[in-house]
Amino acid sequence: MMIFFKVIVVFKMEPEYLEKELLIRGTEINYLFICKTKLWYFAKGITMEQESDFVDLGKFLHEKSYFGEEKEVQIGTINIDFIKRKNIIEIHEVKKGKSMEKAHEIQALYYLYYLKRYGIEAKAILNYPKLREIKEIILDGREGEVEGAIKEVEKIKSMPNPPKPKKSKICKKCSYYELCWI
Ligand code: SF4
Repeated sequence: MMIFFKVIVVFKMEPEYLEKELLIRGTEINYLFICKTKLWYFAKGITMEQESDFVDLGKFLHEKSYFGEEKEVQIGTINIDFIKRKNIIEIHEVKKGKSMEKAHEIQALYYLYYLKRYGIEAKAILNYPKLREIKEIILDGREGEVEGAIKEVEKIKSMPNPPKPKKSKICKKCSYYELCWI
């Protein structure tokens, strides 16, 4: 336990020593599988999430559903909802529903990949409190998926303009709606 939290402190204080591909935030990896335009806006620092009811509900669920855990742990550029220490470290993410399951999964895989690069073995648990479901994620054999996603995120972030928006059912709940469609 001590070693793990010591590592956290080192990462928080010295982010300039992180390897280049690990400077990507978990949210950016997540947005790659939600909307590339959204990813670009977010990566450029255009954040409007506080205006979204969807995000507020996510925060509410998180606060109401989990007590006494090591919450909102920041390690370098990643921000984990909460951590449990069992025979192996468990990182937990709390999600509202499963419609973005692929995005949730790749984000969790990225966290595991990130920790593994620094010698920390862990597994991830996606928590869906509204559905009373959990999903366990392990990294084994899936490193290539994460590396592919990292490359794609880097490519989108390097674009001078946002990718052309594509209208989908998630747009109405997206905080960037006005930027894309009005
Ligand atoms: S409004 Fe739609 S197209 Fe625009 S960023 Fe959001 S999800 Fe993407």
